[in-house]
Amino acid sequence: MDFELTDAQKRLQEEITSFCLDGHNQEIVSDLLAEGDPYDAHSWLLFRRMAEKGWISLNWPTEYGGLGYTPEEISIFHETMAYYRMPMTGLILTSLVGSVIAYFGSDELKAEFLPRAARGELLFCLLYTEPDAGSDLASLTTRAVEDGDHYIINGVKIFTSLGHEAHYGLLAARTDPDVKKTAGISLFMVPLDAEGVQVNPIYTMGSGQVNEEVFTDARVHKRFMVGEKNNGWFVLTMALGLERGSISGVAAQGWRYHDELLEEVRASGLDSSALTVQKLARMETELEVSGLLNSRLNSLISAGRIPLAEAAMTKLYSSEAILRMAGDGVDILGLPGLLELNSPEAPLGGFPEYLYQVATMVTVGAGSSEIMRRIIAKSALSLPV
Ligand SMILES: Cc1cc2nc3c(=O)[nH]c(=O)nc-3n(C[C@H](O)[C@H](O)[C@H](O)COP(=O)(O)OP(=O)(O)OC[C@H]3O[C@@H](n4cnc5c(N)ncnc54)[C@H](O)[C@@H]3O)c2cc1C
Repeated sequence: MDFELTDAQKRLQEEITSFCLDGHNQEIVSDLLAEGDPYDAHSWLLFRRMAEKGWISLNWPTEYGGLGYTPEEISIFHETMAYYRMPMTGLILTSLVGSVIAYFGSDELKAEFLPRAARGELLFCLLYTEPDAGSDLASLTTRAVEDGDHYIINGVKIFTSLGHEAHYGLLAARTDPDVKKTAGISLFMVPLDAEGVQVNPIYTMGSGQVNEEVFTDARVHKRFMVGEKNNGWFVLTMALGLERGSISGVAAQGWRYHDELLEEVRASGLDSSALTVQKLARMETELEVSGLLNSRLNSLISAGRIPLAEAAMTKLYSSEAILRMAGDGVDILGLPGLLELNSPEAPLGGFPEYLYQVATMVTVGAGSSEIMRRIIAKSALSLPV
């Protein structure tokens, strides 16, 4: 296997790098860092600039603005953006929901949402998880009951990334309670400013925010249903496979941290410590392995396969490697490594302490490590999970 980038891939990487290093864009990233939650923050200005490059719609079908990138090129995009700490949550969510609309939505929905979303005028979020339905999402109880031209929604969603900024959420709701769990679910695009929708903040470790949405007799027009009635589980499962490219961003965040840590360790003379040497060498190895798993994943997707186990392995390994790195970084730096983000005396601007807090969430969001292991056990080992 040839791991060298092609000339076209190098040009793409250079284009994305120069976007990230642009002075105005760097200023926005520094401001987000100063506000205290660089990973999950949202900047409308940067979002629109990314839209101008066609990056919100990059993996949609070309007739709706897709750029026709290969899986490797999608990875290059996510890796480069993640390395430079560009706020990517809004783009990833809007791109994912846009893909679902492009592949499963009616022509009316496509016309209503896709052009505006591709221009960076609309932000989408995912309304899947509930207080009693996370890993076991099929147990969701939010109800959508038909009433003339509308559905009436009642229920609660939680842990919604950017729910406080988004215009619409892709909601999974139960439209038939009398069939098996996975059979009676439908998807809707729900405006978050509609009557009967209340958005409340949930504050997380690392000064971040996700949200709770309470639906009380909220009315959604039937035309906002995505895909067929009661076929939402199929769409949901397919949708999970649409955004595999963003997994590669996880390891790239690690590379940036690794590079900065190495520089700090050299500058402060910590590089002769046996503990430092052991931990940095492990980081180097684990990041390489994450990259290899991702390359393998891309090659399988390019070959037209649906690599469930390999995607789960890549997510599992990369996110747990970041968690180990976060702990190692703090160990290497000692007590100063525990100083908060933006503390004047903190090494690396306090990023190690921030990462130490948020890394755990990377192992939970988009499917926890235990669930990834179950997918691997089932898909790769045919175990009866
Ligand atoms: C930062 C972040 C952002 C998120 N953003 C969104 C979002 O935008 N939209 C959205 O809908 N959701 C979002 N989520 C929710 C996320 O998808 C859920 O947290 C995740 O699916 C786990 O569900 P849960 O939190 O209910 O945990 P649970 O499912 O209650 O799991 C609790 C623990 O039990 C383990 N466990 C559960 N079932 C099994 C099993 N069968 N075998 C072995 N172990 C098991 C889990 O691994 C976990 O450790 C986000 C979560 C995080 C952390």
